[in-house]
Amino acid sequence: MNTSKNRAFEWVSQDLQPFILGFLIALAVTRFFFLLWPKCKILLQVAPEDRFNKPITRLWNTVRIAIFQTKILKETKSGWMHAFIFWGFLVLLLRALWFFFIGFFPTVEFSLGGIETPYALLKDLFVVLVSLAAGYALYRRVVTKPERLTLSVEGIVILSLILLIMVSDALFDAGWQARNSQVALSGIWIGRSIAPMLQVLSADLVVHIHNLAYWTHVVCVLYFLTLLPNSKHLHIVTSIPNVFFSRLPERGNGLHRINFENEEQKSFGVSKIDEFSWKKLLDLHSCTECGRCDVVCPALASDKPLSPKQLTVDLRDHLNDETPYLLGNNLEQRGIPTLLGGVINDETLWSCTTCGACEEECPVMIEYVNKVVDLRRGLVLMENRYPTEFVGAFKSLETQSNPWGFGRNTRSDWAKELDVKTWDKHNPTEYLYFVGCNGAFDDRGKKIAAAVVHSLKSAGVDFSILGNDEGCTGDPARRAGNEYLFDLLASRNAELFKEKSIIKIVTHCPHCFNSLKNEYSEFGVELDVIHHS
Ligand code: SF4
Ligand code: SF4
Repeated sequence: MNTSKNRAFEWVSQDLQPFILGFLIALAVTRFFFLLWPKCKILLQVAPEDRFNKPITRLWNTVRIAIFQTKILKETKSGWMHAFIFWGFLVLLLRALWFFFIGFFPTVEFSLGGIETPYALLKDLFVVLVSLAAGYALYRRVVTKPERLTLSVEGIVILSLILLIMVSDALFDAGWQARNSQVALSGIWIGRSIAPMLQVLSADLVVHIHNLAYWTHVVCVLYFLTLLPNSKHLHIVTSIPNVFFSRLPERGNGLHRINFENEEQKSFGVSKIDEFSWKKLLDLHSCTECGRCDVVCPALASDKPLSPKQLTVDLRDHLNDETPYLLGNNLEQRGIPTLLGGVINDETLWSCTTCGACEEECPVMIEYVNKVVDLRRGLVLMENRYPTEFVGAFKSLETQSNPWGFGRNTRSDWAKELDVKTWDKHNPTEYLYFVGCNGAFDDRGKKIAAAVVHSLKSAGVDFSILGNDEGCTGDPARRAGNEYLFDLLASRNAELFKEKSIIKIVTHCPHCFNSLKNEYSEFGVELDVIHHS
């Protein structure tokens, strides 16, 4: 039996059906694009950012993270719940298209050939799995209410719509099967199982159920479409591209050098929402509000005024509110308000440790560190506003090349008793051991540096240090938003590396490792950096 014979014409005749359906689709699709287009337009008009390199790697990341849901599945219950809904969405997309096809072409029979029966079996399997998953999601939202979730009516409406779409799918098959018990729908096992229950009802009622199921299905799918652009469920559209364009691991935190020589550049960092790049705005539209970032955030865990999820939601809501003004569509002429101290509190930004745990956890690859640093750059470079503790640290970094103000001519004192060679460009060792400020000045850090020296010697590694010529990588200044100071310190070090022909570096400091490995290439040096471990 070809399942495409399954049609319901009693409520709306087959002549009228294409017109009614066409009208509903036109309404829904117009509304969908009407609401979505302004968001796309903003992405096209803000700052560019190159996220198109290594397309094969990006594609593989997308398959792994978005299609196979590898990050989501780190959590068992809610992970499988979401994965079933997502995979079900992919499988049932074809079925939804088929519902519209039979409405537009009431008399045309359509067959998927040899895959029709396997597809019907799979489709029904996902109708069950998605129903269970959506039911469980509703239970969490209404009964258990996990703290990390944003509980909203919108979430309940969307889940109820998903359930209705699943139930109407099954009832549509069951209704037809109950009306045509002499033939069996191939592969359709849910409809066939429910049909005997419908047969106890009057024939008229079964006809109504069959028609109701059809129209409920198409109306719910179209209504669902119209809800996407202005809700957090826009992530259904944006999350796959967001994963594709996410930062590749070998590019560090995606922080870039500012050209301070460019006299045309009037502002540095980000103070207003439209100063973020398109990718950072795409991030905002991709948040599912799942709260996984909050669970791992050390700042939130220690009661600091920072919730990464809320930071994203606040920026997204502000972006949506400002969209008409950004596009110049609103009659009321006014400037775009600053984010700093208004939409986002200074304390929120200074609370972030830039650890990246939230990014590691986020299932849709939303980036935080580069946004926080961009906003801190706005605070420091444009508004000259930062915690008082930073005043001394910035000065010490500038004058002594360490954040604590120790004399730079005492930087190598930690190694006095250790018989460590100092780099000689005429007789270079294979590796430079870059110690970092912590290893050079902090009591505990000095012990670590001494232990690394012993380990390297025991392993027979040919290495030397820069001694008092070593300077801070600039990492603390960059993380604190003082890009100008970072530029100064990194430029100094890069010149030194070039002058001394240094390429291979070993370091024990994770901050130095990240900075030298990922951020120094913009200063004209390609370093081969390894961690001592
Ligand atoms: S990078 Fe900042 S926001 Fe993210 S987990 Fe670390 S402290 Fe929290
Ligand atoms: S940023 Fe990522 S982890 Fe955090 S709530 Fe949004 S989707 Fe979830």
